[in-house]
Order: sequence, then C-alpha cells, then structure tokens
Amino acid sequence: MVKTRIAPSPTGFPHVGTAYIGIFSYAWARKNGGRFIVRIEDTDRKRYVKGAEEGILRSLKWLGLDYDEGPDVGGPNGPYRQSERLELYRRYAQQLLDAGLAYRAFETSEELAAIREELQKKGLGYGYDGRARRIPREEAEARAAAGEPHVIRLKTPDSGSTIITDELRGNIEFAAEEIPDVVLLKSDGFPTYHLAVVVDDHLMEVSDVIRGEDWLVSTPIQKLLYQAFGWDEPKWYHLPLLRAPGGAKLSKRTGHTSLDYYRQAGYLPEALRNYLATMGFSMPDGREIFTLQEMIEAFSWDRVSLGGPVFDEEKLRWMNGKYIREVLSLEEVCERLKPFLQGAGLGWESDAYLCKVTEAMRPRFETLSEFVEKSAYFFDENYPFAPKAEKELKKGLRELREVRDILAALPELSHEQSEAAIKEYAQERGLKLRKVMQPLRAAITGSLATPGMYELLEIFGKERVLARIERALQHAEELEDGR
Ligand code: GLU
Repeated sequence: MVKTRIAPSPTGFPHVGTAYIGIFSYAWARKNGGRFIVRIEDTDRKRYVKGAEEGILRSLKWLGLDYDEGPDVGGPNGPYRQSERLELYRRYAQQLLDAGLAYRAFETSEELAAIREELQKKGLGYGYDGRARRIPREEAEARAAAGEPHVIRLKTPDSGSTIITDELRGNIEFAAEEIPDVVLLKSDGFPTYHLAVVVDDHLMEVSDVIRGEDWLVSTPIQKLLYQAFGWDEPKWYHLPLLRAPGGAKLSKRTGHTSLDYYRQAGYLPEALRNYLATMGFSMPDGREIFTLQEMIEAFSWDRVSLGGPVFDEEKLRWMNGKYIREVLSLEEVCERLKPFLQGAGLGWESDAYLCKVTEAMRPRFETLSEFVEKSAYFFDENYPFAPKAEKELKKGLRELREVRDILAALPELSHEQSEAAIKEYAQERGLKLRKVMQPLRAAITGSLATPGMYELLEIFGKERVLARIERALQHAEELEDGR
C-alpha cells in the first residue's frame, strides 16, 4: 500500500511550502488508493511555537487535504505527535547502542566548538570527528549510569560512499566524509530529526517519502539508519523548492508565505490548491484550471518537472479571480462572501440582494476581501464620499436634483425605465450623458468606480436611490457651507 506523509514542524505560521508538498503527497496516495498521514515533528523545543500545530492542521483542512491519520484524527500507528513518542526513540537508540552501531559521546558544547574549529582549520566541513568512538564501552556505560550528560551518535562509515536513489533524480552518491556521525538522541533525551523521522516513517509504514529538496542531504544519513535497523527504506522523492519571481528562495522577504494570509485575504482554497498543483505538475492537455480530483486522475511523476517552480502571487490572484468569475456558481460566490462581509461588520438585507450585488461586481474583484473593499457602499447607508466623488457632486448639483425628480416620477427603477428616462432628460437639456451620470454615481455610491449606472439603480431600488440622493445633497450643502 502506498502511504505518504507530511511531517511539518510547528515552528511558526502554516507555510505555503507545507501545502505544496502536502498536495503532491496527497495526490500520490489517493492515486494509488493509499493513505496520507500528517505527523507533527515537534521535538525541537527551542523552535516550538504554541498554536502552530493548530494553524497547520486548520490550513490543511481548509485546503481540502483530508488526512487519514494524524494527531487529531488518530490512526493505527499513533500517536502522531513526536513529543508523545519519546519512549520509542529512546528504545530504538538503545537498540543501536546494543548492536554497537551507535555510541555515547560526552563532549560539552565548548569542546564541540573547539573540535569544529580544529576540523575547519584542516579544511574539513563536518562538525565532529567521531573521537568518542574510542571510549571503551564499559567506561561509557559507567559514565552514563553516573549521570554524566551525553548524546548518542550514529556510527557512520569512514570510507566509501552511500548512494541514495531518488525516484525523480536517479542515484546520488555521498562520500563518507560528507556524512558525519550525527546525533540521534540529545542529552535531554529528545531525539534529533534523523532518528525520529526514520523510526516514525518505519513504524507508520510510510512507503513513499515526498519532501522538499532541502532534505536531500539528510537522506544518506537516514538510509544508513534504515540499514542499521535492518529495515527496508522507503522510496524517496525530493521536490524542487518554491521560488519567488526572480528566482530567490520563497521567504517572508519575497512575499506572503503564510497560508493564513491567503485565507484571510479571501483566496479560495480550490484556487490556491490548483495553483500549488501547477508548481511542477502539468495536466496532459496543458490546461491550468483543474480540480484536485482531476490532478489525482492525471497524476504521474513523469508529469512533474524539477525546474524550480515560481510561486507568483500575481498569478495566483489571477487564478483566484478566474475561479470567482468562471468556476464557482454565483450562489457559491455569494456564500463565500458572507463571512468576509460579517468580518467587516457589514450586513445584507437578503440573499437575493447580496447575489445581485455579487453578480454586478463579479468582473471587478479577484479576492473575497477585495469585494468587501470595493462593495462596502452597497451594504452601508452611511458610505463615505471619496474626494473625487465630492467634486462631481459639487459640479453637478443642479443635474442631480433634476434627475432625482425624474427618477422619483418613475414607478420603479428597472434598467430599461431608468435608461429611457435619463436619456430623454439629457437630450432635452442638451447635456452629455456623463454630465448626468457622474454626479448621480457619486451621490448614490460615494465613488466613481462602480458597475454600470442602470444596473446599480435596479439593484438599489427606488426607495434607496432617492434616500441616497437626499443624503448626498445634504452632504454637498455641508461642503458648500464649510467652504
Ligand atoms: N520536520 C521536517 C520539516 O519540517 C520534515 C522533513 C521530512 O519530510 O522528512 O519539514
């Protein structure tokens, strides 16, 4: 059975990189009718951030990456939080000690710094020279029993090389000098990443390890650990890291990398996951808009390219707009907008009204929060007047009053009726249509960037339009007085 996992560390906000690796891991598991696991790697207590785990799990759910096993859903090989598995790691470290494949090392941090410096002077890049291997076993055990602080290190080969097979990149050879005797268990009894990841991937029966290429250098160490335990190693896939436009590594400096940001800014989960899926994967027919299910159906590793994929916020925004305009139904868009309006303290009188506004605004916003920014005047009778709108008001007071009377005389403000009446009035008065429309637009929206005027009149309805014109006239008078 194909089992994949993501193993995020709760060290900060939920990162787009986690979702990117998550989507590929998820697609591969689902493609094979397998299982997808989430494991929280929280053994680095110094980098632990409270609340980070919740943020990661919430984001994965928001993106629709439903996992079969994880800290909050359980599973057959739990617990799925490494801090709850410490006993296991100790037991496995002990197993390697007993087999003579690992050893205790007692250097203090000052001594380690000195060793590192010495090695560096000799031009050797690795951090430890394995000197504690020479401590006789009984002596090491006695010192440990006496409570002397120490770590447990893996005995790695002194010569030759370790070859790993990456499913996407082929064989990669690492010389023995590149693989130091890494720490497996720290002096506080916590495992390092290497020990914990191997023990867990094995016990959780992970068959395919899919992760970012920054972990490639860890793989020979982990392969050696699998060998030391006598376990079958998983298949390895190292995906290229996301890049910012321009080629730099994606980071806080290059743009937004938090999934929370995208959720709060009103990106749709289906658009974000579609966009992340295009980071390296392409559909056989080349189309850019596709569902997760379609990705799963078409997925194969031949369709994944290793060129550094560029995560471009502008492109994502475009794709989000496409989902809003073309992929989701109008009703669906209205539903998605509701929490954003509520978040801004705005209410709507009926779903029908909200949907009419959404329909009119649909070509004009690419994120849900942009809708709220641009459409607030639809939901607030105390909408503000922009300076440009005020200018139009002042210039067009006479026309505004006249057009008010014309609209007031109509039975209702349907698109056709308003258009006919306003055009007739403009013609009679020998006015350019603009001269009538701009003050009216400014009056009923406080803005000059709006959907078509007749559409607006119909959405608002007669009563609201007349009330708004009154309010604008009053505002214009106040402006005059203030001058
Ligand atoms: N805990 C590692 C991370 O934060 C997991 C790396 C791996 O997938 O092995 O990404």
